[in-house]
Order: sequence, then C-alpha cells, then structure tokens
Amino acid sequence: MSITPFGAMRTHGAGTLRAEHAGETVTVAGWVDTRRDHGGVAFLDLRDRSGILQVVADPESSDALEAAHRVRTEWVVKVTGTVRARPDGMRNDRLDTGDVELAATSIEVLSEAQTPPFPVEDDVEVAEERRLFHRYVDLRRPKMLRNLEVRAQVVSIIRRVMERNGFIDVETPQLTRPTPEGARDFLVPSRLQPGSTYALPQSPQLFKQLLMVSGIERYFQIARCFRDENLRADRQPEFTQLDLEMSFGDEEDIYSLMEEMFVEIFDEVLGVDLPTPFPRIRFEDAMRRYGSDKPDLRFEMELADLAEVFAATEVGVFKGVLDSGGSVVALALPKGGDLTRREFDEWTEWAKRRGAKGLAWGVVEDDGSLRSPLSKFMSEDELAGVLRETGAEPGDAVFFGAGPRSFARQLMGALRVALAEERGLIGEGGTEHDRWEFCWVVEPPMFDAASESDDPTAATSAGWVPNHHPFTSPAPEFLDDFEQRPEVATARAYDIVLNGTELASGSVRIHDAELQRRVFRFLGISDEAAEEKFGFLLRGFSHGVPPHAGIAPGIDRTVMLICGEKSIREVIAFPKTQTGADPMTDAPAPYDPDALKELGLRELPKPKAD
Ligand code: ASP
Repeated sequence: MSITPFGAMRTHGAGTLRAEHAGETVTVAGWVDTRRDHGGVAFLDLRDRSGILQVVADPESSDALEAAHRVRTEWVVKVTGTVRARPDGMRNDRLDTGDVELAATSIEVLSEAQTPPFPVEDDVEVAEERRLFHRYVDLRRPKMLRNLEVRAQVVSIIRRVMERNGFIDVETPQLTRPTPEGARDFLVPSRLQPGSTYALPQSPQLFKQLLMVSGIERYFQIARCFRDENLRADRQPEFTQLDLEMSFGDEEDIYSLMEEMFVEIFDEVLGVDLPTPFPRIRFEDAMRRYGSDKPDLRFEMELADLAEVFAATEVGVFKGVLDSGGSVVALALPKGGDLTRREFDEWTEWAKRRGAKGLAWGVVEDDGSLRSPLSKFMSEDELAGVLRETGAEPGDAVFFGAGPRSFARQLMGALRVALAEERGLIGEGGTEHDRWEFCWVVEPPMFDAASESDDPTAATSAGWVPNHHPFTSPAPEFLDDFEQRPEVATARAYDIVLNGTELASGSVRIHDAELQRRVFRFLGISDEAAEEKFGFLLRGFSHGVPPHAGIAPGIDRTVMLICGEKSIREVIAFPKTQTGADPMTDAPAPYDPDALKELGLRELPKPKAD
C-alpha cells in the first residue's frame, strides 16, 4: 500500500484539473476562497495547496446548491462532481484550471470558519502584527505557501549537492556551552544543576571543528542558530544556516562547492544560469571601491578617493579633513544633473542623519565645468582630477563625502546604494546577469578595533575583536607576528555576497592549539579563561587535528532573495517581531515563580522607572 496522492478523501488536487479531465467524476477538498451566490446558481472558488478550482452548484443538485448557499469563505468543504469544460468566452486565463469547472453533485462541509481576519489574497495590506497573530491564515495566502515551497526546494537541493560531494549530515547539541559569534547567548538554566546554565548555540562552530578531529572529514547540517541581538534591521533571534566543514581542503574547495550549490539552486528554482567562478574581491578593495564589505555589483557608480586630487586644496572642508588624516570620497551619479537644489539638500540631510557633517555636491555642465557651491574654491586641476577619478560626464552629478577614512567610505557606500535604489539604477542592464550578482569578499582583516565593533560581548580590554570569529586562521604572512601588526593582519576568511546582501561567512580554521591560544591571548582571553571556555576544543586539538575549513550560508536570506522578498520574516513560517515576540503564541511569556524556584533562581526587583 502506498499513500494516496491527495489524501484518501480526495481524488485530485483542486489546482490540478485541466481540460483533459472533462467528463470525469472527481472529489476535491479545500477552503472556500470566494463565493458568488446568484440564488439559482452559486459559484465557489475552492482553494488548496495545488491551486484554485471553480465549483458550480445549480438546482440539478439541490443538496449541493443548498450547501453552497450556506458556506462562507474559508470554510473547509469536500466537493464531488463532474469536471466540465467551460463554455467559450467563460474561460479564465488567470487560473491554471481556467478551462474547466466542477459541476457539484455533493458539497460536504468539513469545518466552518469565522470571518477571516483579513482576505486570503496576495496583495492585501494588513499590519504585520495582525498577520503574525493569525499566521495560520496568513500562510494560506498563495505567495506565502509558495515561499515555503521554495524554501523546502532550496533545502532539498542543498542536501542533494552536499551528499553528492560526500558530506554527511550530523546533528549537534542545542543545549550546549557558548560559542562566540559576536552576539549574546540565550541561556537555559539547568534544573538538575541549579546555578548552571546551558547556552543555545550561536552556531555549531566548535562541534563541527571537533567532528573534523573525529575524522568525519565532510560534515553538514541544516542548523538552527540562536543569537540574542538587538533586533535592528532584518534579524531573527533564531535563524537557519547550512553549516558545513571539511578536512584536508582549502579556500578553493569551499569556493567550488558553494558555486556548484548556488548554480544548482538558481537553475532549478529560477531557471537562471549563474556564471562561474563568482568574482573575488579583496575586502580592502570592496571598501575602497564600494564603501562596503557587501558590495552590490548590480550597478557601477564606484567610489573615488580624492586625497591626491585635493592634496593642496583651498577647499576648506576638504583641507581640514585631509590634514587630519581623513579622506575625501566621491561618486558620480549618472544623469544626476536633473536633481533639484531641494533634492540635493535632502541628500545632505540624509548624510547628516548618518553622522556626517554634510555632503558636498556638484553638477557637470556641458562645457565640463562643475556647477557647485564649492567650485569657486576648486582649481582647474582639481576639477579635472574629480572628473577623471569619478568618471563623471556632462549631465552627471558628483557627491563628495569627507571624514575619517572608514566613515567616509561607508557613508559614500551607503549613498551609492540609496541613490541607485532611488533612481532605479539597480539591475537595469536587462540581462539575468544584472539581476543576480554574486561575489566572494576575501582577505578580510583578522581583527577589528573593539571601539568600532558592535559586538556586545567584545573583550574590550584587549582593544581588538575578531572580524569573523576567533577560530579563523591568520593569512600565512601574519602567522608569526599578527600580535605586532593587528591593524593590517588579514585572515583566511571569505564571505559570499549576493546583490549587496551577505549570504555566507566562513574561513580556514586554526588547527594548532598553540596558535589558537595566541589568538585567544591577543583577544584578552587568558590561558585559564580559554581553558575554562574552550578547553574541550584545545584538548581535541591535542589528539590529532586535520587542517580544515568551512562556511555557513544563511538559508533564510538566500530564500528571501530568491522569492524577491524584502524581509526574512516572509520566508519563515513562524517568525518573531522586531522585539523578539511571537504575537500568535504570545512568546516570550511570564515565568511561573514555582518554575524559578525549581531552577534555583530568584527574581531581582525590577529597576525603578525614572
Ligand atoms: N560559524 C560561522 C557563522 O555562523 C560560519 C563559519 O565560519 O563556518 O557565521
């Protein structure tokens, strides 16, 4: 015996019926999508996961007609009837089943439903909070079902590619010790050992490295990760990664594997043929040319560093910034000459909101001169230099940002993307290639200054935090002395970026206990503390550890981009809001005082509101 294709109650999926089924008696079941009751005849659109089918009830089957009068939208019904071709002129091109309809002989109500909280349609404007409160209804919308189907398809392709390449799926614990990935841990107090807690894994990083010690050689897992972050932007406290690790390989193996996987996903899900190899951009070049470590390559508008052009300038703001070691960074906006004075002012305000003192701008005139509040201070040579370095042409606008180097770059990088979005310049080349721009960002710094880090757990005593995580190997030329030149040391790490979104991070790992201790020490983690927190990893390393490398692409983000969604919440069945709450289950919920007692915990008095 094998499972019936549509469940024992049905012979077909509503969305699967076509002209060739005309004349057949079928049974379908699903939700009443819409109902049009003309008294003598009633039409129901019946919806299930496979699609929508028009059901007709007329007086020839009075029971069916009576039931059709009674049902309401979102009731669950089972309909038996005869498939018939719709008459010419009555076909509905918008439905896959639009050539046929089902003449009902019986309609059985399986379940009644309240009036839905919002219409089950794709383009309906509903507050997200309400959608999440009634998520079970929200997920009925065809677009949401499709997103979940795409997600399942992506995961299935991932598994196939990984297995084909000899990777095996190994589960690692959810109740564990902290793994540092730059966020706070979710803690789970232990009842059996009062006063102790588990941490939910920020990633399976340490376990996957230990699996390499164990000789698993090629590991993967569709892994849930937990990070207690302030939920700015589009983050979720729990999210899913393809986590993988391999022994005896290097960067090139990881690049090839990931390219094979993304090529297969994009081919099968979207029919898009991704060119490989993905371009590789050094981190430093990405920051210099695009002002971002996640460059969006769907459009050009590269940044230009104008330190040399303005080396001897009389433009006061630029001179001040350059004399104090900062940068002047510019970009040309193609055809930006049509921006009004007011729009330029708005962009200046935009920059100020991001902490800039201001934003200078100009428009290149037909004669090659620059119309700008600054032009009277600019020499001929400087003007020529601006046009040369930015590539600006007559009719283009030029924007200038100034300040400390990394600030100026990031400001102009953000402006580059914002301008391109506003002006519709993204992916305008018209080819698939312009729509999906993958790249590798490689050779990132080993460390970031702790003062510039948003890692709440940063060991600020040392002044440096890892750019990736502390298990990442320094580049060979820094192995001996990264401690002496942390500001220039690079790591054997790599990110995958798609259309300006970081999809994956990974690295070649340290596989030497002494080198690992040196990195910990440099980060302000003493040998004793390292032993306490990571003793199990270091012990593992003393039992024969192969060189290994790995990466972890985010599944939520990948699916979000493939589905054309703006938020990962659209591709997660039951996501949390920006405050980490689930309006449907009302999690997190107040604790039960008795449960606290059992855990050996006591509540502190709430801080008094001022
Ligand atoms: N564990 C890393 C992360 O979650 C990925 C990796 O290095 O493989 O970002």
